[in-house]
Amino acid sequence: MRMIARVGIGVLSVAWLSCAHSTPAPVAVPVEKPSEIHYGQEGLQGVVWMRTAVEYQASARQAYAAAQRALDLALADPAWSAVTELTAVASGERRPAIILDLDETCLDNSAYQARLTELAAAHTEEAFEEHIRSGNVTAVPGTVEFLHYAESRGVTIFYVTNQRKKIEEASRANLRRLGLPLPESEDTVLTLGEMPDWVSDKSSRRAFVAQKYRVLLLVGDDFNDFVSANGKSLAERKAIFDRHADWFGTKWIILPNPTYGSWERAALGGAGSSAEDRFKARMRAIQSTAGH
Ligand SMILES: [Mg+2]
Repeated sequence: MRMIARVGIGVLSVAWLSCAHSTPAPVAVPVEKPSEIHYGQEGLQGVVWMRTAVEYQASARQAYAAAQRALDLALADPAWSAVTELTAVASGERRPAIILDLDETCLDNSAYQARLTELAAAHTEEAFEEHIRSGNVTAVPGTVEFLHYAESRGVTIFYVTNQRKKIEEASRANLRRLGLPLPESEDTVLTLGEMPDWVSDKSSRRAFVAQKYRVLLLVGDDFNDFVSANGKSLAERKAIFDRHADWFGTKWIILPNPTYGSWERAALGGAGSSAEDRFKARMRAIQSTAGH
């Protein structure tokens, strides 16, 4: 049974007071009625954006257009490598490959996020697996066109996903139905736990691909799709980002996902699981500059 928590909590609203000839300043004032924050509904705005906004569709298409331009450059450069793992290994003789995440990179699961939000229900692996098996997933805009372009250029496409091994067949059926390339000759869907060291940190799977291929691009919606940042604080993530900032848009292509991700865990900083604790952690996060 899905965990559903509903917690009433008093919140502050912000009134913008303005005076003639001065910059408006935000002033916090108490609201008259406490609002309810429903665990599972905190991401409502992000879900609305992904479900309805052409701005989301445009951002995704823009990301894949950048991926295609970057791929052309990468194919022309024998020294090009997009992985931080195995950087000391000469890779010029290897066949080219790219690595993509699945969820919210190639696959749009916003129907699942929308359903959770409607129910004020928390994500669980069981509920997500039911969603994947239902086949109610679509392709992120731009994905199919880009992947067929990459395939036409002789590039092998790997999907490195934290979906679990037990739903791989259901996921493959979704990929096939949506028209994403899936070669028969090699396992290119590398799921969580498929091999003993294929843990949620994707470094070992990036290294696995890089042992055989020259990895030209990484595509994902989460910082961990590019580099190992599990459990890092906002400040630590920023330091890693700064070291690789110029890889984004060239070797690393990121898709927007405001609905969930490691950014959220970092921003909440180990807050408790109650809606009130998470709400307070979010309020602290917007007052913080640790991620900037
Ligand atoms: Mg993802």
